Amino acid sequence: MIRIDGLTKNYGSFVAVDHISLHVPRGTLYGFLGPNGAGKTTTLRIIAGILRPTAGRVLLGGDDVHQQPLVAKRRLGFIPDRPFVYDKLTGAEFLRFVAGLYGQSGDGVERRLDELLEVFELSSWKDELVEAYSHGMRQKLIISSALIHRPECIVVDEPMVGLDPKAARLLKDIFRQFVDRGGTVLMSTHTLEIAEAMCDRIAIIQHGKIVAAGTMPEIRQQTAAGHEVGLEELFLKLTGGAHARELAAVLGER
Ligand code: ATP
Repeated sequence: MIRIDGLTKNYGSFVAVDHISLHVPRGTLYGFLGPNGAGKTTTLRIIAGILRPTAGRVLLGGDDVHQQPLVAKRRLGFIPDRPFVYDKLTGAEFLRFVAGLYGQSGDGVERRLDELLEVFELSSWKDELVEAYSHGMRQKLIISSALIHRPECIVVDEPMVGLDPKAARLLKDIFRQFVDRGGTVLMSTHTLEIAEAMCDRIAIIQHGKIVAAGTMPEIRQQTAAGHEVGLEELFLKLTGGAHARELAAVLGER
């Protein structure tokens, strides 16, 4: 499980994340939505232990990411929005390198990396340099690297960007099976159809604050919306989408 309590991040005098709390129980796929600049990436980077919070704490399976980073980070697979891959390593070397960061090596890692490359249809690229991979292939390699040490929790920032429909479907199936086996996923996405179809619960962040969280029926209740209202409408209602009149003014009369 992932628990964040009173998380705040200031950049100078700007408050990017403003005292947010969220509990992602085991066996849950939680969607994390919000407009551009709302604070999603900042929050996910704090959960992954890459950024230090100004205040608050993050627990991964009960361990504090900033107090007990080694134990806590073993539980986590993080897939960032702008991943870094070493171009001069092959796919297999990259996965071995990441496994090594978690203190893992040997036959177990070799079997695991073969399994992951097979699932993502990268087996024939195993010994090719990453510099020759397409954008989607790199994305699949990054996802494999986040799974190599068998984490309990996955935190993922915009995972579907650049994936072809088959790979996107595969990723959805992987996340679903992962949570069905007791894993925990927190995923940011701008694709509301994906969030609505995939996620058990959703949190919406706006100006660094969580403005709604829960299952779809709970969010409808929080926004006093009818039970047929979809996520797009709820999102726009909560975050203030552009109004038809404003759009008409920008586009002009014809
Ligand atoms: P998007 O959907 O556009 O990716 P986001 O919800 O992920 O947005 P963040 O990247 O978390 O948003 O940014 C939240 C706010 O914090 C934004 O206003 C951004 O400009 C600001 N911000 C992020 N990183 C820094 C930084 N290093 N220094 C100053 N401000 C920052």
